[in-house]
Amino acid sequence: MIKIYNTFSKKKEEIPKKKTLSLYTCGPTVYDYDHLGHAISYTNADILRRTLEYNGYKVKHVMNITDVGHLTSDADTGEDKMEKSAKEKRQSIWEIADYYTKVFFQNRKKLNILDPHITCKASDCVKETIDLIKILIKKEYAYQISDGIYFDVQKFPEYGKLSGNTIAELKEGVRIEKNPEKKHPADFALWKFSPKDKKRQMEWDSPWGKGFPGWHMECSTIAKKHLGKTIDFHTGGEDNIFPHHESEIAQSETINNKRFVNIWFHTRHLKVEGEKMSKSLKNFLTLKDIQEKGFDPLALRYLFLTAHYRTSFNFTEEGLKAAQKALKNLYNHFLLLKEEKGINKEYQEEFQKAINNDLDMPKALSIVWKLIKDEKAKDKKQTLINFDQVLGLKLKNFKLEIPKEVKELIKKREKERKQKNWKEADQLRDEVEKMGFTIKDTEEGPKVLLV
Ligand SMILES: [Zn+2]
Repeated sequence: MIKIYNTFSKKKEEIPKKKTLSLYTCGPTVYDYDHLGHAISYTNADILRRTLEYNGYKVKHVMNITDVGHLTSDADTGEDKMEKSAKEKRQSIWEIADYYTKVFFQNRKKLNILDPHITCKASDCVKETIDLIKILIKKEYAYQISDGIYFDVQKFPEYGKLSGNTIAELKEGVRIEKNPEKKHPADFALWKFSPKDKKRQMEWDSPWGKGFPGWHMECSTIAKKHLGKTIDFHTGGEDNIFPHHESEIAQSETINNKRFVNIWFHTRHLKVEGEKMSKSLKNFLTLKDIQEKGFDPLALRYLFLTAHYRTSFNFTEEGLKAAQKALKNLYNHFLLLKEEKGINKEYQEEFQKAINNDLDMPKALSIVWKLIKDEKAKDKKQTLINFDQVLGLKLKNFKLEIPKEVKELIKKREKERKQKNWKEADQLRDEVEKMGFTIKDTEEGPKVLLV
């Protein structure tokens, strides 16, 4: 039995009883480099998918790429993040989108995050989005004002059910309404008109006038197009809960007359050295920053596994150092394991129980180490490879790439050892260690490990 915490019910819930599960992930807005906050959120979604697959489910995974319509303010005012970035960087939106999408996927690969089966850009589904807005207008859940078409939240009394807001509280919470034509401050844009005085790079004709889709619409469109009316899992960061996911629910449930999502899965905020990541503190760390400091991206993945996805993660360089050390240690132990074909059922059951309990990865990692240190346990190697389907630390084909120079030094050392020249042999070992490797003498001869 797999239980996953549902943000909607605020409880751990048994997952839907089906053979194929649908999984929708809110993708990035590709106007800038993705940072560690993205990395942890997408890694956790990956752990979720891998856990479902580990249990024998087939998962259909879809993700959007936001290349239009995400404005700088959540109140649907301000500039389009893509248009703004393109202007600042003096490139076209398409160039910016292509570039940051490519980097995003490279980073996912480095973190060993599985690719979604379908990825769809917001700009590639504008026609379908317009069709859905037509339905909302026909059902009288949407209205037109001078700058666009808006969703009328007062027609959808459940608005706020995911985030714990109510329509009345949302009204009181707004001090100055930036857009007085809106019927309610929480009404959100489905379609925005292009400004009359400026030409946008991305804009389309619609029955209501030239413009572009509102940010929340793309997810309702893409989810429906590729996964149907109800999806089993919807993942994202907790900052997406309101207004983004709340608005997706209002749109989709009005259009489809059906529950939109069975289980909402959210990763908590990531802090850097105890501080909130923010533009003013300039502490948006990217994977490139981490690599430039000499860290392996998989050490970051290991680090993420050490905390539960529903705790607020505090990233520290100390923590990453410890994770890198632990990962090397894991690889070293793995290299020394005997070649056995079986799987240790006892440990496998324990591991499965941990991951199926709302992805308890800290527990799962502790089981990994318990297995490694258990002198009596059999079949360690294949069992670890089996666990790695979920951990994603690339154990399966793990082999050390040993440089030629290191191999030569090891050969020389063996010669010296045979002649009992211990001092020379030790010197050669020191040289090997300077190059990032070490030698462990085993019954089968010397084995090369990571320092
Ligand atoms: Zn979304």
